[in-house]
Amino acid sequence: MRSSRAGSSSRPLRSSSGGHRVDPPSGADRLLTGLGADGHTVTLEEHLGRWGDLPVREGESFLAELDRSGIRGHGGAWFPVGTKWRSVGRSMLRSPVVVANGTEGEPASGKDRLLLHQLPHLILDGATIAARTIGANQIIVHVHRDAVSSVERAIVARRARGLDPVEMEIVVAPDRYLAGQESAAVSTIVGRNPAVPTFTGIRTVRDQGVGGRPTLVQNVETLAHVALIARFGGDWFASVGTADSSGTALFTVTGRWPEPRIVEAPLGSSLGDLLGLGAGQFGTVQAVLLGGYGGGWLTPNEALTMPVTEEAARQRGSSLGPGIVALLPHGVCPLSEVSRVVTYMEGQGAGQCGPCVNGLADLAVSLKQLAYRPASLRGGVDSIPPLCDLVERRGACGHPDGVARFVRSSLRVFADHATLHARRGSCPQTAPFLPVPASSPRARSVKFR
Ligand code: SF4
Repeated sequence: MRSSRAGSSSRPLRSSSGGHRVDPPSGADRLLTGLGADGHTVTLEEHLGRWGDLPVREGESFLAELDRSGIRGHGGAWFPVGTKWRSVGRSMLRSPVVVANGTEGEPASGKDRLLLHQLPHLILDGATIAARTIGANQIIVHVHRDAVSSVERAIVARRARGLDPVEMEIVVAPDRYLAGQESAAVSTIVGRNPAVPTFTGIRTVRDQGVGGRPTLVQNVETLAHVALIARFGGDWFASVGTADSSGTALFTVTGRWPEPRIVEAPLGSSLGDLLGLGAGQFGTVQAVLLGGYGGGWLTPNEALTMPVTEEAARQRGSSLGPGIVALLPHGVCPLSEVSRVVTYMEGQGAGQCGPCVNGLADLAVSLKQLAYRPASLRGGVDSIPPLCDLVERRGACGHPDGVARFVRSSLRVFADHATLHARRGSCPQTAPFLPVPASSPRARSVKFR
């Protein structure tokens, strides 16, 4: 996976207190200006040289700074960060816990992995600020196994410099789609039932999460942005983007270049600008998937001028999710892609409530019939939306809703192709386009201290 990187325009300064500080980046690239040229893990010295010392920010004044920035969570929910941090319960007896959540479960996403492998200090800076602000005395970095060594080296280097006043540990998550869901992350961390959501709801995780303590689960890209807000301020963060969707975001783009690439762009940019494609240049694109397998498909025309904000995506029956953009080329059967994804998603449900146990399996079977044996689909395409009705808003988490959104958008955008299947039968088999992992078994979590 490659990343786009602009040259840094910042220069070192010295603050009046003697600490090292730098000018904020002025262009559209912010986080990515901290990347090293050869993809190595940026060391603590390089990190401090690039971004300067982390100022001590905490309490109500930093919450006000977050409100001023307008930052929302970049893990897929796009919930206001200041509101979320304020809602973490506190008491004299139970210190809160911060979970830096780097377990991006969407197979087509790679931006959190990029940050964990190459810019771990920005994430740990953000986690430290979060812990100070909400009064937490423990930080847990929740990642997949491949990210352990870069994060572990970063923690050791910071410990040697006495940078972090808060205990940090790493917990490895299983490779499951739902591993990053808030209550599923807590289940993994406490070793109860790794990567399985609980029925207690997000609000309760904030009141009673890890070890029964109030818990803030925050996506690692969000924490990296927080690290820059702590240095440069909320007004700087909000100087790009829109009034409701401020700042920049990382997007994982598949199908635009020969290999997937991470790009950074201000929220509210047009998708055409983000991709570097103008009018008439979407000719090779059959459809655009936004937001991953819990998002939805758009036609090229819809996508070209769409501003990249969660609201604009929702208005079009999709979602930004964790910033996934996939351009499906002509020549690939879209219905076989949809069937592969829904079969995978059905296997990733936790199997503990009705829509996952029954509804998703029926959807997966119907979409397989539509893709490969259309004559065997009783009731034709019209039989599929009622199956979506049966799973929507009936699960304890949003997994079935995401699958239903993905399926509904497929039926809308690929309606002509579905009619072709009904008339002429399925397409000749083509090479798969979207990344769909082999179904992974549930696994135990592992802790590194
Ligand atoms: S809806 Fe599915 S994935 Fe979500 S909690 Fe219920 S069984 Fe688990």
